[in-house]
Amino acid sequence: MQTLIDPFARPITYLRVSVTDRCDFRCTYCMSEHMQFLPKKDLLTLEELDRLCSAFVHMGVRKLRITGGEPLVRRDIMTFFRAMSRHLDSGALKELTLTTNGSQLARFAGELVDCGVRRINVSLDTLDADRFAAITRWGRLDQVLDGIRAATEAGLRVKINTVALKGVNEDELFTLVDWCAAEGHDLTFIEVMPMGDMGEELRLDQYWPLKDLRARLAERFTLTDLAESTGGPARYVRLKETGQKIGFITPLTHNFCESCNRVRVTCTGELYMCLGQEDMADLRAPLRASADDALLEQAIRAAISRKPKGHDFDYSRQKVQGQMSRNMSHTGG
Ligand code: SAM
Ligand code: SF4
Repeated sequence: MQTLIDPFARPITYLRVSVTDRCDFRCTYCMSEHMQFLPKKDLLTLEELDRLCSAFVHMGVRKLRITGGEPLVRRDIMTFFRAMSRHLDSGALKELTLTTNGSQLARFAGELVDCGVRRINVSLDTLDADRFAAITRWGRLDQVLDGIRAATEAGLRVKINTVALKGVNEDELFTLVDWCAAEGHDLTFIEVMPMGDMGEELRLDQYWPLKDLRARLAERFTLTDLAESTGGPARYVRLKETGQKIGFITPLTHNFCESCNRVRVTCTGELYMCLGQEDMADLRAPLRASADDALLEQAIRAAISRKPKGHDFDYSRQKVQGQMSRNMSHTGG
């Protein structure tokens, strides 16, 4: 079958799928406290998710990242991971991975390894229990740290994703770096993005440009830029003193679109060709219209043929421009 190539000659090899909009946390930058979640009938069933992901794999997707909401709170989600592991076994899929808040890892780490998952991303913005509770509203730091420990013990490689929040976790920069070094975790910082309706004031207030964070790091460490690119918004440096690799995801200040190899599907089957644009294609209708995948594949190809060149966030004039109306929990980060 012909692989997916967009109009700018970029092969689409990386799919991120949100399997639920629900979450057991309510991180302040991601959700409001009283979220209205989608009715169940709107969500793709696990079987539909299987068909959808398998279609992408047949069309050349080599890396599949499961996200949410919190993917591990979706009922029977291990059935889905188990189903996807057949594409690893066949060699069609190179990597099956997930992004999680870590709360359910103590329960699922072993099974994830069984399903062929080797590396996971765990989101963690602070190592201070009170601060953790304030940021996540409903989360407990201990539970997440237990989960991360269980993941490591099960043999999973853990990358920590930390949202850089001015005036919130600024003073923990070196604590987090040191902790990751001691625990053997990679670490990536994410610049906070203008998603959802969290309120402009708050977000601009918390905006901590990663170039400032990087300058702070350079006060203590010798940084060497690494050339490697994942086709995504992450850039990496090596800290000479510890040998650690640190990533920076700067969707607002860095243009990474030229090498973009990814698309996203929401838990309702909306295919977003670009995180920063509103254009999307509904894949649920073709999924539900027939048991055969021909319509689905046609819809995917039509959508990829209009993948835009790049996105359009801009914090520059102290005003959030290009602000997206959907939350990260919707498109799945
Ligand atoms: N619940 C899982 C988790 O937290 O890892 C997966 C979904 S979450 C939406 C994916 C990532 O998006 C997390 O690392 C989270 O910190 C990040 N995120 C959410 N809202 C964000 C925002 N407004 N700006 C930057 N990152 C955000
Ligand atoms: Fe949940 Fe992840 Fe959003 Fe936090 S960032 S509320 S853990 S989906």
